[in-house]
Amino acid sequence: MRILKQSTELRSLFQKRKIASSKLKWGVCTMSFVEQELMRFINEIIVPNVDTYELQEAIPLDVIRAMGDRGLLCPLIPKNYGGVEYDLQTIGRINEKIGQASASVRSVLTVQGMVSLAILKFGTEAQKEKWLPKLVSGKVVGGFALAEEEAGCDSSNLSTTYTEVDEEYELVGKKTWVTMGQVASLFLVFARSGEEYSAFLVEKDRIGLQVEDVTGMLGLRASMVANVTLDNVRLPKESLLGRLGSALRFIVPTCLDYGRYTVACGCVGLSQACIDVCYSYVEKRKQFGTKLKDFQMIQRMLAKMVTQTKASRLLCQNAAKLKEEEDFGAITDTCVAKYYASTSVNEVASMAVQILGANGCLNEHPVERYFRDAKLFEIIEGSTQILEIMIANNYLG
Ligand SMILES: Cc1cc2nc3c(=O)[nH]c(=O)nc-3n(C[C@H](O)[C@H](O)[C@H](O)COP(=O)(O)OP(=O)(O)OC[C@H]3O[C@@H](n4cnc5c(N)ncnc54)[C@H](O)[C@@H]3O)c2cc1C
Repeated sequence: MRILKQSTELRSLFQKRKIASSKLKWGVCTMSFVEQELMRFINEIIVPNVDTYELQEAIPLDVIRAMGDRGLLCPLIPKNYGGVEYDLQTIGRINEKIGQASASVRSVLTVQGMVSLAILKFGTEAQKEKWLPKLVSGKVVGGFALAEEEAGCDSSNLSTTYTEVDEEYELVGKKTWVTMGQVASLFLVFARSGEEYSAFLVEKDRIGLQVEDVTGMLGLRASMVANVTLDNVRLPKESLLGRLGSALRFIVPTCLDYGRYTVACGCVGLSQACIDVCYSYVEKRKQFGTKLKDFQMIQRMLAKMVTQTKASRLLCQNAAKLKEEEDFGAITDTCVAKYYASTSVNEVASMAVQILGANGCLNEHPVERYFRDAKLFEIIEGSTQILEIMIANNYLG
């Protein structure tokens, strides 16, 4: 199979790397057609261009649409809305493999998945028919607009408000850190009216909506983050998603649960990428006349990296299994998977930099990017501390 053969045609910036960023492999000998197509897409489109995306802090819309064409953007969505309806294990592997190539590109999958899932679960039939096929194909990029300057971990502290004016809703406030916000044409905006929290589908071209690019991020530099200001944005009644007051109890937890699962799987991919780079490096690099791979302290680091990555992958698979079985513990076990995978990938990426020494600190080597990207996984979709609280509280009853 072509994509499983040793590559002789690595292109673009990757040819310049001192350590070849080799094409990714699915990890098993037999691949389904879906898997072959995925790996072909990753190796032909993402891998050769990932450094350009990071440098330009942008992913071309064509790439997002190409993911849509392959059913990767909203893989949970049923076929009658244009989706592919993959199972969660497959979705996990897609996130792992794309995350192995580029954490920024993978972030599209989480956001697009969360917005489409919210519409699927809570939308009216008209909203589903209007938005889902476009989100699936990537013609519309979605933005998940929950966070604000004073509402990070504490989503209940929103200051964005909605009021009913002349049979319409009027939104006022400012949303921060909206992944893909720079190119999103549909925002899922959370706002409050007193103690009532609701969700709205807001098109980018609504009068009063302004998007401001956020650049210079530590990691996930191509995830096109933006702040979104809502200056008396008027919306028709049909823009409300779900019932009034249902946002924090139902819509946000549903979206974050999917977000956590896909981010956890992305962490597994990033961990695997660290391992792959280190394996080829220790094979070649010599110090004291000995290959690094023959030093036991290096072997210890590799053993930890492999073990932690396998453990993260198993936790993700467990979360997917519980979700498929609609098990009551699925939400907590998804938190466990995200908590472990995101903290673990930070240790793994740190060991990868350590193994490469000074070379690991240079942006010619991908571990430099892996190290930066890893940190952000401890902040998004439930910070490490919030997940610790959630996991502990669950077990404390
Ligand atoms: C790259 C990136 C992409 C993002 N994309 C989106 C997006 O698409 N949509 C969106 O809505 N948001 C997005 N966010 C925002 C993200 O959800 C928030 O950053 C996250 O919720 C944490 O909020 P905060 O950064 O304001 O930290 P804060 O809430 O200010 O927390 C700061 C620190 O205090 C800790 N802390 C907070 N509360 C407690 C507590 N009770 N006990 C112990 N420790 C606590 C936190 O763990 C953290 O370490 C994104 C953020 C980043 C960095």
